[in-house]
Amino acid sequence: MSLANALLPQLMQNLGLAASAYAGGTLAVHSPIDGSQLALVPTHSPQQVTAIIGKAHESFLSWRQTPAPRRGELIRLLGEELRASKTDLGKLVSLEAGKILSEGLGEVQEMIDICDFAVGLSRQLYGLTIASERPGHRMMETWHPLGVVGVISAFNFPVAVWSWNTALAIVCGDSVVWKPSEKTPLTALACQALFERAAKRFGDAPQALSQVIIGARDVGEALVNDTRVALVSATGSTRMGREVGPNVAKRFGRSLLELGGNNAVIVTPSADLDLAVRGILFAAVGTAGQRCTTTRRIIAHHSVRETLIERLKKAYLALPIGNPTAPGTLVGPLIDQASFEAMQQALSQARQDGASVFGGERVLQDQFPLAYYVKPAIVEMPSQTAIVCHETFAPILYVMGYADFKDAIAMQNDVPQGLSSAVFSNDLREAETFLSVSGSDCGIANVNIGTSGAEIGGAFGGEKETGGGRESGSDAWRNYMRRATNTVNYSKELPLAQGVRFDV
Ligand code: NAD
Repeated sequence: MSLANALLPQLMQNLGLAASAYAGGTLAVHSPIDGSQLALVPTHSPQQVTAIIGKAHESFLSWRQTPAPRRGELIRLLGEELRASKTDLGKLVSLEAGKILSEGLGEVQEMIDICDFAVGLSRQLYGLTIASERPGHRMMETWHPLGVVGVISAFNFPVAVWSWNTALAIVCGDSVVWKPSEKTPLTALACQALFERAAKRFGDAPQALSQVIIGARDVGEALVNDTRVALVSATGSTRMGREVGPNVAKRFGRSLLELGGNNAVIVTPSADLDLAVRGILFAAVGTAGQRCTTTRRIIAHHSVRETLIERLKKAYLALPIGNPTAPGTLVGPLIDQASFEAMQQALSQARQDGASVFGGERVLQDQFPLAYYVKPAIVEMPSQTAIVCHETFAPILYVMGYADFKDAIAMQNDVPQGLSSAVFSNDLREAETFLSVSGSDCGIANVNIGTSGAEIGGAFGGEKETGGGRESGSDAWRNYMRRATNTVNYSKELPLAQGVRFDV
């Protein structure tokens, strides 16, 4: 029995799932750790999805009547369930998505954090009172629950993305239908089981408040095209967003798109190189380079470029690569063979463009013939060619040089994606310029920390081909509600706005 299969039954049982929930179906799930088949999960047909959306809509109609602070209580209970199951769910993320255990646990912690945030938010869903130009009138805005929220998620954050959306949607009075990645349905079934436990303890939540639909693209499309789904929150590749965005827009639905990134770090002459090396290392090779916020490009001043590259290479040589559940491992496997092939193709294109490539080769083939472990690559580029401007979802770090800080910012912005960015600098002018209107054009811009590992308190998302969506903290909750502007006349007159006269 494979390593992953040996651990699975106990984990699933602890998380409240009977073996029948993930056996006898047609969707084969493989562990990226050793390539072994973990389960055959039953899938939903598009017709079943239609019925599930119907139930979600009914649930919405009753849930929206529940006062928001009471809705928050359900999310407080979900947070408790997640705390109790943090280790089991974290391990399952590791088995199914190949993350090192510490990152699997970190992902569950992020779920707990967003639950805490949403509980507080359930007493803070406020609108404005606005000065009216008419005497004896009051103008205000009210925020109402929106409807059914469809969540489509990617394999690399198999549980956190659901919780970012669901914790907010539920306190905002919505219901949720979740289509997880076809590569990670087991973690989705586990989250659903935890939600159901919380709902049972809550008592009177509608039955179909949160549901999971399992399947590939066709199942996602059924969700996208259903007019009863008021908001489609879709996380994944830019290719997926290019299909989902226009399809939702065609029916005048709302979409929240969280798509690919191509994140850069600028290292200036005044940078603290110890800090820069540590920050870049985690952001470039954490999750084996499979985060939307992974650092994919370094733009280093010519005076520090060589030293930085040497230090990074030294750090890369010391990276423990292997089974992500083993203590001490820092780099786990790529998700699958297709991902490995895409990485090799990108490296070969970079070589044709004149790059010098360090690392990038497959390792541990003897131990794991069906899994894909690689040495993260450092690729010194003569310039920012087309392949550098493309997001390859693997640990490839392209390094370019610059002489003038303005050119570095221009290079950082000169890619189609706009998710995350950072500058390492101890020069206040450079740091502030980077954050200013003429600086980074990304949704996330950092100083002296890497591009990945955002906290849930801030709004998360990016510009351009990253899709423009914002979820998680700050005022992202507004995506999950509809706004009504109300004017109340408490006078005995009926003055019209803009001084218009309409007297008979
Ligand atoms: P993917 O685009 O292949 O799949 C994502 C999800 O979309 C899956 O559930 C898939 O079944 C579904 N899907 C695909 N086409 C669809 C369609 N036409 N209609 C409806 N659903 C469809 O992405 P992936 O390989 O799972 O994940 C990696 C990508 O996700 C990377 O590009 C990464 O940058 C991005 N990502 C972005 C964020 C973010 O917050 N910006 C977070 C995580 C991952």
